[in-house]
Amino acid sequence: MTGKLFSETIMKNLNIVSFAGDGIGPEISAATLQVIEAANQALGLGLAVTHGDVGFAALERHGHTIPETTMEQARNADGIILGPCDTYGYPVPPDQGGANPSSKLRLSLDLYANMRPSRTIPGVPSLVPQMDLVIARENTEGFYADRNMFMGSGEFMPTPDVALAVRKITAASSKRITVAACEEAMKRRKHLTIVSKANVLKLSDGLFLREARAVAAQYPDLAVDEVLVDAMASLLVRTPEVYDVIVTTNMFGDILSNQASELAGGLGLAGSLNAGDTHAMAQASHGSAPDIASKDLANPSSVMFSTSMLLVWLAERHQRPALKRAAGLIDQAIFDTLANPKTRTADLGGKLGTRAFGNAVCARFSTLANDPRDC
Ligand code: NAD
Repeated sequence: MTGKLFSETIMKNLNIVSFAGDGIGPEISAATLQVIEAANQALGLGLAVTHGDVGFAALERHGHTIPETTMEQARNADGIILGPCDTYGYPVPPDQGGANPSSKLRLSLDLYANMRPSRTIPGVPSLVPQMDLVIARENTEGFYADRNMFMGSGEFMPTPDVALAVRKITAASSKRITVAACEEAMKRRKHLTIVSKANVLKLSDGLFLREARAVAAQYPDLAVDEVLVDAMASLLVRTPEVYDVIVTTNMFGDILSNQASELAGGLGLAGSLNAGDTHAMAQASHGSAPDIASKDLANPSSVMFSTSMLLVWLAERHQRPALKRAAGLIDQAIFDTLANPKTRTADLGGKLGTRAFGNAVCARFSTLANDPRDC
């Protein structure tokens, strides 16, 4: 076997599909892909990036916000990068082509663990002095009407003046999100906080708590505590430095993670990974930010951080340490760029546009990647 053939055998390209999404999605996705391409070139990562349509672009071309061709691309990809989707603005009902792409992808690919880190970054303004935590949010059920029924919607109106919503909690989903949270905590400061509203939702959150406690008990090295969600909202402001990994149900996790991101510096820094057993999808925690779309104002750090989480996931799945190293360098390049007030985006009081910020992160990445002290 020639050297070239041998290296091709052991180093299969990994297919990353990017769905830019709506609003600021195309701008922040482009800036992120620029950094990924720089890492790919500099470190020989073997990533092959392709593109697909979701949201308004897909609606225009295919009559559906998440057409089957897009689903096929996602199923076949090693990793997915999804931009934010303007689901509130879709002009057609979900069952007639205006479905929520994020929800469809999370459900179809069984991306049950939404890991949402929030950390203060040295030199970057934040509302709290110190925070470094991860919210592990259950991603496939809960209070989301579009993902908690086999058929039909979890929301309905028996009369024009009465609206009801069904919240689904299962033992299996509660168990697997807690396993993901415990595994994450074991890699970090070994502290798990289980958040629920079991004092009021005694059956549904009672079930979540029962399962979470049982899983956590299998990790004797973890310090485990329990906090009610309303108290958690206060404690995140009062003593955020205490928390390490917080595990909770879908909607509580969505809301608490936005609060945590804002406290740590802003939604523009809010990365997240949706992970399952076979697929993973990088996706910022925030929405499509229509108020700043197409103005070169958005902070792309959120998708960059999300993508670096995807690289870590791929590194572990495919035993490719170079991907983990790339993720570390990308994170560091973003930290360093943000630490300088002259190279920040407008949400952090800076003057750089999305594109210029992407260039600055790329330049910093190249410096770090070529630094002989880095290994
Ligand atoms: P949003 O998260 O889009 O915006 C909230 C605020 O944060 C806005 O002021 C926005 O300008 C700012 N912001 C968000 N991301 C930013 C970034 N990267 N850089 C700088 N500023 C940023 O929330 P919204 O306005 O309530 O929702 C807009 C649309 O997004 C709605 O259709 C909603 O349904 C959808 N949404 C989608 C997702 C998703 O795709 N994952 C998540 C949340 C909301």
